[in-house]
Amino acid sequence: MRPSGKTIAQLALLAFAAFVAFQPPGAFTVERWYSRWLYPIIQANVTSLSNRSPIAVFDVAIVVVLAILIGIWIRSIRLARKRPVIRSLWRGFVATLTVLAIVYLWFLAAWGLNYARPPLESTMNYDASKVTPEAVRVLAEYAIDRANSTHAAGHAAGFPAITATPETLMAALHDVEREFGRPRPTVFATPKWSICTPFYRASGVSGQLGPFFLETLLNPDLTGPERPAVLAHEWAHLSGYAPESDASFIGLLAALRSGPASEYSAWLDLVSESVNQLQPVTQRVVLEKLAQGPRDDQAAIRERLKTLVRPVEQVAWSSYDRMLKSQGVEEGVRSYSRVIQLLIGTDVLKIPQAQSPSPAPQAPSPKPQVP
Ligand SMILES: [Zn+2]
Repeated sequence: MRPSGKTIAQLALLAFAAFVAFQPPGAFTVERWYSRWLYPIIQANVTSLSNRSPIAVFDVAIVVVLAILIGIWIRSIRLARKRPVIRSLWRGFVATLTVLAIVYLWFLAAWGLNYARPPLESTMNYDASKVTPEAVRVLAEYAIDRANSTHAAGHAAGFPAITATPETLMAALHDVEREFGRPRPTVFATPKWSICTPFYRASGVSGQLGPFFLETLLNPDLTGPERPAVLAHEWAHLSGYAPESDASFIGLLAALRSGPASEYSAWLDLVSESVNQLQPVTQRVVLEKLAQGPRDDQAAIRERLKTLVRPVEQVAWSSYDRMLKSQGVEEGVRSYSRVIQLLIGTDVLKIPQAQSPSPAPQAPSPKPQVP
């Protein structure tokens, strides 16, 4: 029997998807032709379109893809009753793979190729030797000091609503991305609620980029002081920074420049991020300097995270870790704390350094942290 045109097209598509998965384009090619040319064009158009929908198009896509997959299997099982079983089920299997290949290629074309960009430190003045346990402690102390001193102004200015698109944050991100070479400004996505919210609650996810229609989806439970920093992180993803640490780095730089509420949010975020890298004893000593205001805000965040379901959290993080590694992000979830290395190694915060660095007994131990 000769294969039909449809079968040949399916096999060609599967072969192409497998080829791209195992032989992704090089970092230089991706940076030049995708991240700095094609992606900004796609992003501006796709986000402009999805911004018109009050509901997350990502949710609609999930439901449609699931419906298609269920439809394929209902049809295959019905067919198996009348025709040879193996052939009918094989068809269902190939059709399923074809749908998954389309979803995968769509993900790569719409956003996912940004994972293959050169790492951020290769595009900046980055000195790995500056990243010492002492420097991490200095950064944590500095973040605590800044969180203490910006707390009152941040609260007085008021934090944005969960679906807000703060003008100052957009302007600051446009400045930062331009400095990093983006040829045109990002069209920012209006934050939306997603049907994935129960999953966000259970796994401790603050938000995500909807990769198929370039949307920003946020956990609606985020406390006020968390929102600007999380939004800046998600918008940095939208700008084309796929790895977590890169998005956090770019998001922090922007939030620190965009008014009292965002500035405080960024410092509070950095307090957890940097303190988390220290040894438990040092953590306690350093955290004694945190004032009551930021302490109360941290307590509110912990209260929000009470809905966390440990097994869901672990499964979510380990599958995300596998996904990151499959996209060439070697650090996987650990790349969350790479943001600390980036901040110290580039000296972008211009933190006054301690006089006498103590001998470095141990490297900071990065561990996954709730974003
Ligand atoms: Zn992220």
